[in-house]
Amino acid sequence: MKRLICISNRVQAASSGASSNRGGLAVALSAALRESNGIWFGWSGEQTDEFTGQISFRRQDGVATATIDLEAQDIEEYYNGFANRTLWPLFHYRLDLTEIARDFAGGYARVNQRFAETVAPLIEPEDMIWVHDYHLMPLGQRLRERGFSNRLGFFLHTPWPPASLMMSLPGHKDLVKSLLSYDVIGFHTDEWRASFIDYIVTHLGAELDGDHALLDGRSTRLLICPIGLDTSEFTAARDTPAARSAQSRLISSAVGRQVIVGVDRLDYSKGLQERFMAYEQLLTTRPELRERLFLLQIAPPSRGDVPSYQQIRAELNALSGGINGEFASIDWVPVRYVNKGYAREELFGIYRASRVGLVTPLRDGMNLVAKEYVAAQDPEDPGVLVLSRFAGAAAQLDAALIINPHSSEDMADAIARALSMPLEERRERHAAMLASVVKQDVRWWSARFIAALEAPEPSKDRPR
Ligand code: UDP
Repeated sequence: MKRLICISNRVQAASSGASSNRGGLAVALSAALRESNGIWFGWSGEQTDEFTGQISFRRQDGVATATIDLEAQDIEEYYNGFANRTLWPLFHYRLDLTEIARDFAGGYARVNQRFAETVAPLIEPEDMIWVHDYHLMPLGQRLRERGFSNRLGFFLHTPWPPASLMMSLPGHKDLVKSLLSYDVIGFHTDEWRASFIDYIVTHLGAELDGDHALLDGRSTRLLICPIGLDTSEFTAARDTPAARSAQSRLISSAVGRQVIVGVDRLDYSKGLQERFMAYEQLLTTRPELRERLFLLQIAPPSRGDVPSYQQIRAELNALSGGINGEFASIDWVPVRYVNKGYAREELFGIYRASRVGLVTPLRDGMNLVAKEYVAAQDPEDPGVLVLSRFAGAAAQLDAALIINPHSSEDMADAIARALSMPLEERRERHAAMLASVVKQDVRWWSARFIAALEAPEPSKDRPR
């Protein structure tokens, strides 16, 4: 395997240690990086007075990392600004929350240029370069401008929005065109890829040849490549003290009531208000269920500097408080709303103790919580996943109860159906989902992308 250079906004090399919060992405990339003796390059997360481009080299868990610090203006305009306030809402179809500012766009261009300048001396002619996510879309083009002809890949971890929304971004044409500097672009689902194709064909005049986009003599492979879990590592959590303790605490505190669980970053894309409203609908229209269940919603706050996140937090406080005020009794609280994060081992136990997993985003690139919920169930007596059709995960987990999160009635019906689903149907649905979670895990994902990145150009393959 050729040497791999991964570039992402933040470097999250897998830290060693039994109890950790390392994500599947870190595990998958770390394995590929170790195998190829590669490097993971990105922002350190630290702020410096003035940008110097000085690289800090480290070795974390056998992976070589190279990080740079950014200055305050970069962080404000590129990260908090263009990434979190412009692209994130736009790519989650939230034009109403998308903030357009020239400073943000300027900072984004500047930081991508800085990434290109600082990573350039590390790149050798045979290296494969894999860039991650919406923070770094123009980086491929910046590298091409510096003369690099290496194999260059880009993976988008979010949805790709419809062309009609993309057009509201000033400079959209240049930005999207810059992506066609890559040799491979990976998407989680056919839906996101189809929106991308629609844009490049309609607005850039690109042509399609099978799964390749052709423009200005360049060919880019458009790959569907859904990210998976580190399933074996996640299920190994079953026997950890943290998982067992979380599971038994939840079960004993439930005193025979059924647990409905949600686990989401506190983000407007996750459909949390809609979920609370659907739960309220359930309690209102099915009084016989009251006192027999409760909703445990874990929602660690994120991006608290961004006003739209402060607003949704306030709304959720009001909604959960309202439901509890209306329905609670002296010994029953219908919503346990928890604004803190849990380690993955604890989440395993929490998922396993829950009869229903609610994953109801309004829009989500993939949603790994859905896969974790499935992986954590006891196959003999599994819980039921209620899943939004707008999560990328719904393309693979079609044996879930698929719902429209905009309809409280639809969601409330699905929760009621999940609660009374016969064991045999639960087992069948779970087995179908588990098979996909095990087979298309995170190693499958990274191997699939890297194989596409290693593949030679089709023009060299096929006689013309
Ligand atoms: N997560 C966690 N602790 C928490 C809440 C979430 O470790 O308290 C993890 C969760 O297990 C999952 C990830 O954060 O692996 C969330 O990924 P997902 O794709 O569902 O959503 P994202 O936050 O990336 O939008």
